[in-house]
Amino acid sequence: MTSALDALLSLIEPVVSALLNPSTFLYDPSKRVFWPYLLASVVIAGVALATHDRKHWWRGLYEKLLSPKLWLHPSSLLDMKLMASKSVIRALLFAPWIASAYGIALGVVRLSTTQFGPAHETELGATEITLIYTVVLFVCSDFSRYALHRLCHEVPFLWQFHQVHHSAEVMTPLTLYRSHPVENLLFVLRGVVVTGLVTGVFFYHFGTQAVQYQLLGVNVFGLLFNIFGANLRHSQVWLSFGATVERVILSPAQHQIHHSDDPKHFGSNYGSCLALWDRMGGSFHAAQGQEGVRFGLSQDESNHDPHRLGSALVGPFKACWELASTRLRLKKPVESQPTSKHAEVVYLETLTGAQASQTMIEREPSEEQHAS
Ligand SMILES: [Zn+2]
Ligand SMILES: [Zn+2]
Repeated sequence: MTSALDALLSLIEPVVSALLNPSTFLYDPSKRVFWPYLLASVVIAGVALATHDRKHWWRGLYEKLLSPKLWLHPSSLLDMKLMASKSVIRALLFAPWIASAYGIALGVVRLSTTQFGPAHETELGATEITLIYTVVLFVCSDFSRYALHRLCHEVPFLWQFHQVHHSAEVMTPLTLYRSHPVENLLFVLRGVVVTGLVTGVFFYHFGTQAVQYQLLGVNVFGLLFNIFGANLRHSQVWLSFGATVERVILSPAQHQIHHSDDPKHFGSNYGSCLALWDRMGGSFHAAQGQEGVRFGLSQDESNHDPHRLGSALVGPFKACWELASTRLRLKKPVESQPTSKHAEVVYLETLTGAQASQTMIEREPSEEQHAS
C-alpha cells in the first residue's frame, strides 16, 4: 500500500512542479518575462504611446497592454494553458531525450582532436576570445532561430504545428509561449545543438578561455534585446524603431506584421533580433505605415480552435495526417505542397483541373478538424 502511494506521489510530484514551473519565469533572467524586462517594456510602451498622444497615452497603455480584457481573452487564456501543459509534457516526455549542449561541445572537441590533432596556440587574449565567442554564439543562435522559424512556415507539416502560435487573436507577452509541444521540442533541440557546436569549436581552439560575456548569467546581447522592449513583440503596442534601425534590428512592430492576418504580410519578418537574415532571404518588411494590423488565422486556414487546449494540441496532428493522406492519394512530391492559403492558390494553379477540384474537396476543413 505504501509502495503504491509512493509510486503515485513520484508520478504526481514532477507534474505539480512542472505546472508551477512557469511561475518561476518571472524571477529568471534567462526568460523574456523576467519581471524587470516586463517593467522595462511597460515604460518603453508608455514613452512610445506618449510620443503619439501626450494627453491620452495612459489610456492607450491600459487598453493595449494592461487591460484584463486582453489578459483574460479566451485566446490569451489558451496561451497560459499551453505554457503549463508544455511544461508538464516536457518534464515527463522530452527531458530524458534532450542531450546537453555541454555533451555536444565535448563531442566536437574529441572529434576535432582526433581528426586534426591538438589546436595551435592562440595569440588572442582572454578579452578578445570572450568577445568573439559572445558575438559568434549570439549571431549563430539568432540565425538558427530565423532558419527554423522560416522552415516552420515553408514546410507544410511544420506549418501545421506553428499555426498554434499564429492563431493568437490578441497578443500579450505570454503569447511567446503559445506554441505546440512539437515546435517547442524543435526549438529546444535547436538551442542545444547550436550552443553545443559553437562552444565545441571554441573549446577546441581556446580551451576554457571560451566564456561568454554575461550579465545575470545571460548572454549580454540577449539581455539587451529583452530589456529594450522584446516583450512588446507580442502585444498590441505598435513600436517601430524607424526605417534605419529596423534594417539592423527587427522592431516589435515588425514581428506584429509577421502575425498579421493580411495576405500582403504573409512570409515576412521571420527573424528574432537581427534583420540581416530577412534582408538576405527576401522576407524583410519595414514597419512604416503599416499600423493597425489584425492578428490570427482565418477559420478556413486554421487546423484548430484558437481558444481550446485540446484542439490546439490534437488539431495539428490530425491536419498532418490529412495532409499525408492527401499526398499519398495525389502522389505529389512533398516539396510542391502549399503552406498557407496564399501558397495554396499558387499550388492549385500548377495542377490539372481534375486534380485541383479533388484537392479543393479534400482540403476543405471539416467540422472535426475544428473540434477539440
Ligand atoms: Zn511565424
Ligand atoms: Zn510571435
